[in-house]
Amino acid sequence: MDTIKDIITAFAPEYLDRFRSHIPGNHIKVIKAITSCRTHDTGLIVYSCKKCGHLHTTYRSCGNRHCPVCQSHKTREWLKAQSKSRCPGIIS
Ligand SMILES: [Zn+2]
Repeated sequence: MDTIKDIITAFAPEYLDRFRSHIPGNHIKVIKAITSCRTHDTGLIVYSCKKCGHLHTTYRSCGNRHCPVCQSHKTREWLKAQSKSRCPGIIS
């Protein structure tokens, strides 16, 4: 277990079993998006290499803005932009 997604995936079932009635519906939706991100639940994308013509497959991302897997790049970019706009002396 080495990612946030792994931790959420490991503990979400028990968490939802224990607290489902107290968790807002949108939180449950986020948990389901994160646990299904880049798995067979989200489906496959097939790519064709322009050079060799081979087909490559990968699981689709969930696209949820809270997902640490598919949104981490956007988060890093946002943090970088915020650091520059608020304190131009910070070097990242
Ligand atoms: Zn995702």
